[in-house]
Amino acid sequence: MPNKVINLGIVGVGKIVRDQHLPSIANNARFNLSATASRNASVDGVQAFSDIASMIEGSDLDAVALCMPPQYRQAAAQLALERGKHVLLEKPPGATVSEVDHLSELADKKGVSLFATWHSRYGAAVDATKALLSEQQLKSASLVWQEDVRKWHPNQQWIWQAGGLGVFDPGVNGLSILTYCLPSPVYVTSAKLIFPANKAAPIAADAHFKTVDGIHISGQFDWRATDAEAWNIDFETDQGLLQIKDGGARLLMNGDDMVRPRPSAHGEYEAIYARFADLIQRGVSDVDLAPLKLVADAFLLADREDVVAFHE
Ligand code: NAP
Repeated sequence: MPNKVINLGIVGVGKIVRDQHLPSIANNARFNLSATASRNASVDGVQAFSDIASMIEGSDLDAVALCMPPQYRQAAAQLALERGKHVLLEKPPGATVSEVDHLSELADKKGVSLFATWHSRYGAAVDATKALLSEQQLKSASLVWQEDVRKWHPNQQWIWQAGGLGVFDPGVNGLSILTYCLPSPVYVTSAKLIFPANKAAPIAADAHFKTVDGIHISGQFDWRATDAEAWNIDFETDQGLLQIKDGGARLLMNGDDMVRPRPSAHGEYEAIYARFADLIQRGVSDVDLAPLKLVADAFLLADREDVVAFHE
């Protein structure tokens, strides 16, 4: 599709669409936001439908961005791919690993692009970290992803339901950076998931990982951090301490800042839409399930601890 404007439909007009997708699409001349499909929301000046089937039927789309909660993404993605649309999946790409595998095969069969996005991989510090880790000898790493769930996820019921991932909804962002930056594959060795008595998804998790070279990595995920929020990964290497801070926005090597912050507050999503246009133009997909597999494996291996009920 050389340089043709890509007519895009968005499904699930919620927080991330308003915060990031709309400004990033507006800043990319390759995309024209043609339609939305949302039950309770719309975007001014854009043709609005209540569901994806009527949106695909009623507008002339090349691509769709699926931004509803992960439990409801598979059916929409399958429909869009079967109708020959390129598909962008918000993170996590689905509620299960196998459903996304199937979508990937379907995209190949239909000759369209499927893009499973991991927005944190486009943080300013991430490529620089990957480059440094390829030159240094890793000794150990620790990931701390903790935030106040009441502040970041108010009234989001889906996130506490089965398939909503709970604390791994933000935590998978840290794992997406880790799996991208490490020079060798990583797997889960043990996990403890902490569930509020009234919820089907964990509020906190302790997990341990190993690279195939035997390097230990710890992961601490917590949604109860009201005044000690952190989205950090520390890498101990033969050359000292490499630190990712602020969810991938900053990189320190032995205390010195190594990268400039991104100039735009929408930098990660602007990079995502630039990549989506490029994938469509090249006729290829980008589906890396490594972060979702680590979360799924943590659920498979985990001990469970029940704690008091959580109320907003
Ligand atoms: P949200 O505010 O709850 O918005 C999701 C929208 O999806 C809802 O407003 C809803 O719109 C629609 N939807 C369709 N079917 C639904 C269903 N059965 N149940 C609930 N909503 C349904 O969530 P969000 O924060 O935008 O997150 C959406 C996805 O983006 C998640 O996978 C999340 O991990 C990812 N994400 C979020 C952030 C963030 O900062 N919030 C950052 C990065 C990625 P209608 O009611 O109008 O249909």
